[in-house]
Amino acid sequence: STTATPIDKLNDLSKISYPLCMRTLHEALCTNSHLRNSGRMQYGLFLKGIGVTLEDALRFWRDAFSKKADGVAFEKKYAYSVKHYFGKEGKQTNYTPYGCQKIISSSVGPGEYHGCPFRHMDRDSLCQKLTSCGVFASNMTEILDLAKDGQYHLACAKYFEVMHNKPASKPLLHPNAYFVESRAILT
Ligand code: SF4
Repeated sequence: STTATPIDKLNDLSKISYPLCMRTLHEALCTNSHLRNSGRMQYGLFLKGIGVTLEDALRFWRDAFSKKADGVAFEKKYAYSVKHYFGKEGKQTNYTPYGCQKIISSSVGPGEYHGCPFRHMDRDSLCQKLTSCGVFASNMTEILDLAKDGQYHLACAKYFEVMHNKPASKPLLHPNAYFVESRAILT
């Protein structure tokens, strides 16, 4: 989407229009006031893709990190990388948001929240996460079983269906495509 997304909407959007990978990152960031580098890249590029401007992205990350890093520390440690993946520093490479394939194949260590929850979370953690998102009963079993069978996209599609009370109109192979489809249904 090329429409600007205001950052004061991200809490709401994370609950209704984010795929579970990005919702997980958003919630981990809010809980911990921190994300490791791989999580910042995966989530930051998604935000860029949904139309968060560079100025808003800097403000968003500074506020999100403010319990762990003051303004000076943020400028020193993190601001450059945000500008960098927006293409405003360094080689001005135009980084594009990660697709599912890249996210699913990433390696995720302890204390990290990037990756695809259907691939990277163990069954208990995934069950807990889905419960906190309002997924129950037969839908839960179906999603957990799809994830266990390595059908990550189908698990994600079922999550979409549960969150929107209707299935997506096409297979969604990119978190940003998930978001665009959700906004098309909800707005
Ligand atoms: Fe995110 Fe793709 Fe996994 Fe869905 S299948 S949670 S969009 S990485």
